Amino acid sequence: MSARAAIVVTGTEVLGGRVSDRNGPWLAERLRELGVDLAHVTIVGDRPADMLAALRWCASLEVSLIVTSGGLGPTADDLTATVVGGFCGRAMVLDVALEERIAAILAASRARWAHLSDEAIREANRKQAVVPAGATILEPVGTAPGLVVPPADGSEGPTVVVLPGPPRELQPLWEQATRTAAFGRAVHDATVYEQRTLRLFGLPESEIATTLREAQRAGVELEQIEVTTCVRSGELEVVTRYEPHSAAVAAALEAVIRERHADVIYSDDGTRVDEQVASLLVQQGLTVAVAESCTGGLVLGKLTDRPGASAFVRGGIVAYSDAVKEQLVGVAPKLIEEHGAVSEAVAVALADGARERIGADVGIGVTGVAGPDGGTPDKPVGLVWIALSGPGGRRLVRRTDQRGTRADVRERTVVVTLHLLRRLLLGAADTPAE
Ligand code: ATP
Ligand code: MG
Repeated sequence: MSARAAIVVTGTEVLGGRVSDRNGPWLAERLRELGVDLAHVTIVGDRPADMLAALRWCASLEVSLIVTSGGLGPTADDLTATVVGGFCGRAMVLDVALEERIAAILAASRARWAHLSDEAIREANRKQAVVPAGATILEPVGTAPGLVVPPADGSEGPTVVVLPGPPRELQPLWEQATRTAAFGRAVHDATVYEQRTLRLFGLPESEIATTLREAQRAGVELEQIEVTTCVRSGELEVVTRYEPHSAAVAAALEAVIRERHADVIYSDDGTRVDEQVASLLVQQGLTVAVAESCTGGLVLGKLTDRPGASAFVRGGIVAYSDAVKEQLVGVAPKLIEEHGAVSEAVAVALADGARERIGADVGIGVTGVAGPDGGTPDKPVGLVWIALSGPGGRRLVRRTDQRGTRADVRERTVVVTLHLLRRLLLGAADTPAE
């Protein structure tokens, strides 16, 4: 049997929904990369009895590894180490050298806690140096050390990796944990998987379901591999995961998908559209500017998400009102009068205006009805016009009709805009270069 794991996320704030869980999904991905099957993810509050019950439940699933997140801080509600020590049948002992190391870290940030006495701080943090005997210590990134705790000598059960709650601390400590001998023993029989991700844009999920059936009919033994499809804002991801001996099956499936959907596959190497747009702009030495209405800056936000955006982003104007469209972007008032603010003509004028006024090679114009109100029979909620205007008069203009909430409409518009920009950069245009 291959290695199996479970994740126990702790924290009353996560359980109650005030903080949304980022650690469970992140750890799930990492386990998958390591070929460890994930049996269960659970969230519990900061209550020792609940935590212990969760650990026992995971153990009953016969996992060889449990990963916990949270509850390693200096305060009284941070009890994970003690609960895990008890669960693994190990006594809690003060690690004096660790206490010194934590004290040194705290001394460095002492200025922030000027109102507390040295003794109070030391007391609170001595607690963090009390760890299960025989555990491997993961050096703190904040002040909390992580732990890898194997079952007590002579007893059976899972090894528990104990990690702090803040994601920026949990992630490096996880990397440390995976390099420990105790971790290696717990997952020694992990299966080695390979994984391929195809990303498609502009294809309904039902189509890919049909393609999978077709592949099966054509003799591709899908039961030998794991195929997951996932749709997000019009982008469709097809992930295949397989053991090396089934590589040919995965390749055969990919061939069928490529044959049927060649024109909508935009990524087979893990890259996302924003990454691709960024590298195309850099390669071609082009800059971009945005004048957006219904997306209120989200397109520019996406374009500047990644580091290095200053190489190709010139700037943008959130042209929400007609006055701003006219005065700052230079949209002719008569265009708005004749066609309305949500129209092909105004989208094009926004793109041209962004390009000229901001001085970029490519201008992007976006105007639409995000809803929930403001729709009319000929301009319903979800109608969005997107225009791109590139060097030499090259243009790409699309009407899209989005469904869903205001947030959905806005988010999908950003995705469609990025895909249109990608296509323009790859040479597509409604009007060829003059
Ligand atoms: P600390 O020393 O910061 O108290 P800790 O290990 O005790 O570390 P928690 O008290 O559980 O961690 O959480 C501290 C903060 O970290 C939370 O308030 C929250 O902001 C963040 N956090 C904790 N768990 C998660 C999670 N699963 N997803 C996202 N953020 C989290
Ligand atoms: Mg805490």
